[in-house]
Amino acid sequence: MAKIAFYTLGCKVNQADTASMENLFLRSGHQLVSFDGEADVYIINTCVVTNTGQRKSRQTIHRAIRKNPNALIVVTGCYPQTAAEEVKAIAGVDMIIGNQDRAQIVQLVEERLAHRQTDTLDAVHKLTASTAFEEMAAGDITDKTRAFLKIQEGCNQFCTYCIIPYARGPLRSRSLESIRTETQRLISAGFKEIVLIGIHLGCYGKENPDGPTLYDAVKTVLDVPGVQRLRLGSLESVEVEPRLLTLMQEDARFCRHLHLPLQSGCDKVLQAMHRPYTTAKFKTLLADIKNRVPDIAITTDVIAGFPGETEADFETTCKFAESCGFSKMHIFPFSARKGTPAEKFAGAVMEAVKKERADILGKIDETMHKTFLQAMVGQNAEVLFEQPAGEDYFEGLTGNYQRVFVKSGGHNLGGEILPVKITAFDGEKLFGEIIKD
Ligand code: SF4
Repeated sequence: MAKIAFYTLGCKVNQADTASMENLFLRSGHQLVSFDGEADVYIINTCVVTNTGQRKSRQTIHRAIRKNPNALIVVTGCYPQTAAEEVKAIAGVDMIIGNQDRAQIVQLVEERLAHRQTDTLDAVHKLTASTAFEEMAAGDITDKTRAFLKIQEGCNQFCTYCIIPYARGPLRSRSLESIRTETQRLISAGFKEIVLIGIHLGCYGKENPDGPTLYDAVKTVLDVPGVQRLRLGSLESVEVEPRLLTLMQEDARFCRHLHLPLQSGCDKVLQAMHRPYTTAKFKTLLADIKNRVPDIAITTDVIAGFPGETEADFETTCKFAESCGFSKMHIFPFSARKGTPAEKFAGAVMEAVKKERADILGKIDETMHKTFLQAMVGQNAEVLFEQPAGEDYFEGLTGNYQRVFVKSGGHNLGGEILPVKITAFDGEKLFGEIIKD
């Protein structure tokens, strides 16, 4: 038995990949320990989506090497997949594993522990159209409230700023049968909410013209007895099928929350980004969604300071974002990624200007977010409780993804879904009272 310590950087898909790998080690009789303590094996699941992600990945690798120079240092994920030679050149790294072959990670680590060698073991494979979806079981060692089930991998969109298609490879999807079995297993383990995630979730099944679609995946989950809630991870606005919205209207278990990345509210910039919509199209889709599902929360991502974005373009983005009424907007200053087309685009925006624009968008977000929360006061919502918040309160999430705090009277509400009346918004948090029948 070895002591295994994981560190994860980046997105929810990466977190889900780590949770699956942790499961594999536990099932093979190994022990999971804190990354801050002594371990025999340190596994760093890396991120390269921004320069910061990549820098933090490198720092974490060095931290692990310093902590225990005799430990096995394994680097996995998007960094070795996109820059294998660079990672191998870090003295002290023993093994690199890309974004495939992680189902074999336990065997690879065990073999390496048994036969330590000085050269770095390279398990990074080219990801091609024939690469299959790696069907690892979802992680289940958390607090049993929300389970993240990865059903899709890869992306064929190639937005000009994005490194992800190079890091994650082409589209591939988990089979409906595997989605059904995994959902059954997670529900039996006690999970209340299933969150379907993927790199390009809306393209679920689209690698095969006759394949299933995201709607089929959603139906498959909802048809499993015992599922109390289903939520979707990020997807593109143009991939929200009308029948998905109909299902959301009809089935209260399907959470009324969609994360639809906007990235820019200026058509010139959207085109340069190679995004699959115009602002007019995005607005029409948004209006249709809000019409059909009035209490839905729409969250989004916006990039500030894309190359060529002028002051006027940025103002257009601000006005457009304000008019969309997002419940939350995540803002990212543009970060040029090596090997992407945007890295070489003319019209680079200065760092200080990017920051200034991100701050302005941040203020717009604050106003929209507060307006959304204030409008929820007086409404009733089903809250899935997660954890205590201080001595008296418990916190949980509504179906439309808002955090609510209720007085718990000392009761452990963890894992319960209860009806709550939203009673107040203090400018930061929502408060509520459990509705007793
Ligand atoms: S859709 Fe665009 S932003 Fe999203 S992963 Fe694919 S290339 Fe990146």
